[in-house]
Amino acid sequence: MSNRRDFLKSASLLTAGGLLAGKATAMPATAPAATPVTTANKALGLQIYSLFNELYEDTPKRLAELREMGYVNLELAGYNNGKIGSIDMMEFKKMAEDAGQKLVSSHVNPPGNSPQEFFLMNYTRDQLPRVKEYWKATADDHAKLGCKYLLQPMMPTVKNHDDAALVCEFFNEAGQICKDAGLQFGYHNHNWEFKKVATEEQIKNAHPFMEPGDPIEDLFITGTDPNLVVFELDVYWTVRGGSDPLEYMQKYPDRIRVLHIKDRAVLGQSGLLNFQNIFNQMYTNGIQDYFVELEKMPDGRSQMVGIKECADYLQTASFVK
Ligand code: MG
Repeated sequence: MSNRRDFLKSASLLTAGGLLAGKATAMPATAPAATPVTTANKALGLQIYSLFNELYEDTPKRLAELREMGYVNLELAGYNNGKIGSIDMMEFKKMAEDAGQKLVSSHVNPPGNSPQEFFLMNYTRDQLPRVKEYWKATADDHAKLGCKYLLQPMMPTVKNHDDAALVCEFFNEAGQICKDAGLQFGYHNHNWEFKKVATEEQIKNAHPFMEPGDPIEDLFITGTDPNLVVFELDVYWTVRGGSDPLEYMQKYPDRIRVLHIKDRAVLGQSGLLNFQNIFNQMYTNGIQDYFVELEKMPDGRSQMVGIKECADYLQTASFVK
């Protein structure tokens, strides 16, 4: 990450070279910058879903504005058949690169069997060949985009341990296909994954005051191959699911490798999340990649305003490197 350390390093080099002591005027006033100039010195990530339609009003302009705020790492949403939204994907990549951004990650779901089924909900073994074909084409496209991660954001139906085990088989297959294409496959949670499913044995032996069973998220983590599947923990949805993101990061440090940094609306305003603890744990675990995410602003202000306030929060927070 081009972050504060790099900034301080280059600042000290300038000082050592005496440029800050009066020689700066020797530099050409209009020296072309390799990347757009920004006052934000921390490299931030953003899930582009956060912009809703504002992204497509004037995409190059929006991307440049995001870069100004410090968002240099983008996670895509809206990939469909070689397009991001309605923009050809390679054109989108060029727009992002021109703005000084990298396409690091992307959210995609295997599609359903009809236009009414937005994504495949009910996994059965006979769907596997079609889903594998989907992942192959999608992984090849994302390799062209230079992405590091390809992540599934939506949960298929899981009513019991057997359903979870079948979903894990699908995830492992996706993981192998992505690995062959040079990408890392992963899964992103909402709140539903923290619901417990129980075996008959667990129900029979349940403590009277305790809900029996295992959270679906845990079944996904323990049921998939660590060499093929990582997890992107959405810290807000984890809390909304009644769980503690810190506990999950401590329990599965090798499996949770990406984060969604998210609050009910603008970061740090709800009091539901302790971002200082979350960032500290993120650094302890050596997690490199995180993406800010913002749902629809609840007060009618634009998404860009909310995204800027999220950036300001992180740029000024002492615990964010
Ligand atoms: Mg999320």
